[in-house]
Amino acid sequence: MTTPSDILMQAQAMADQLTAWRRDIHMHPELSFQEERTANLVAGQLAALGIETQTGVGKTGVVGYLGDGGPAIAIRADMDALPIQEENDVAYASQTPGVMHACGHDAHTAILLGVATILARMPDRPAGQVRFLFQPSEEDSDDENKSGATRMIEDKALDGVDGVIALHVASDLPSKRITIVDGPASANEDSFEIWLRGTGGHGAFPHQTVDPTFILAQVLNSIHGIRARRIDPTKAAALSIGMILAGAASNVIPSQVYLSGTMRSFDDGVRQQLRDELAKVLEISRVLGGDFEMKLWPGYPAMINDVDVARLVRVSTRDLVGAHAIMEAEPMMAAEDFSYMTRKAPGAMFMLGAKKDGVERPHHTPVFDIDESAMPLGAAVLADVACRLLRQKASQ
Ligand SMILES: [Zn+2]
Ligand SMILES: [Zn+2]
Repeated sequence: MTTPSDILMQAQAMADQLTAWRRDIHMHPELSFQEERTANLVAGQLAALGIETQTGVGKTGVVGYLGDGGPAIAIRADMDALPIQEENDVAYASQTPGVMHACGHDAHTAILLGVATILARMPDRPAGQVRFLFQPSEEDSDDENKSGATRMIEDKALDGVDGVIALHVASDLPSKRITIVDGPASANEDSFEIWLRGTGGHGAFPHQTVDPTFILAQVLNSIHGIRARRIDPTKAAALSIGMILAGAASNVIPSQVYLSGTMRSFDDGVRQQLRDELAKVLEISRVLGGDFEMKLWPGYPAMINDVDVARLVRVSTRDLVGAHAIMEAEPMMAAEDFSYMTRKAPGAMFMLGAKKDGVERPHHTPVFDIDESAMPLGAAVLADVACRLLRQKASQ
């Protein structure tokens, strides 16, 4: 029988191939919902493995179906890059000006191709189906405010799935270390735009105006009071204003102030409360003789890791490389659209440490890069957990 150490050996034997795939994709990054070259590469590799392949899923996504009958386990990788100009001086740097794989989705795609290779060649693969989900657009949404995960789900990529797993590389986590949290793992995210309206005029005659900058001062304090005074202090929440724009001259009182910001939480009740309290606070502008308009842009829901799937990730990591590889983790306030998939089937995402060198290389920056030698471990864990889930679901 194929053991976890066999899987690890096979993954390590693929190290050069994983790096080659990752560098190829890294050199040719594609923005959200434009992953056509990447999808072609993926579909070609899946077909070469004899895996039934469907393209154009969720617009530019690819799904591979390996095996049939019995339980179905899905493994997801995202494929999109970011509108960032790469600053790394490496042979495999992005060849597309202004576009860069600065979140590691190139590595996710390469790793999932490795997982497909391992599982397709496994003579005693457990009964059931493994579905390889190569998802477009994790970083952005289309003009209907839907990201790649939602589009894949709409195209039935997760229908009949009994479990779903994924990883995310982490450029700030020691290489070849793994973290996973139980329950809420990433945040509910909503962004908003606000226009505070008054009546502009001459700076020398403020009494003849309704000054929206004065309204802003009252509203801003109250917005920052929501977290402190309205949300249960035992529950996590963040509300930040990222933009304030007003005025054009020192002696002119503007007629409106523009604000935008973001709200984060783990609990769905807290998410709704943040929305409601924000709208309530803006009423202050009416009391002061002005008015407001608010647009809420609902973002991704919180990602909830299934406790049983998370446990399997820990057991698998321990059996593959030892318990020392598992590090303690806290939930993160960032948002991740894999959350839509974990709401369709029990699932979990783990973080794969891939810190490259002594330099800080944060995600979404021009200097982002990873230690590629962490990729085989990621592939081994995903392949091994998929096998464990298939066996577990078959015996239920
Ligand atoms: Zn990202
Ligand atoms: Zn990402």
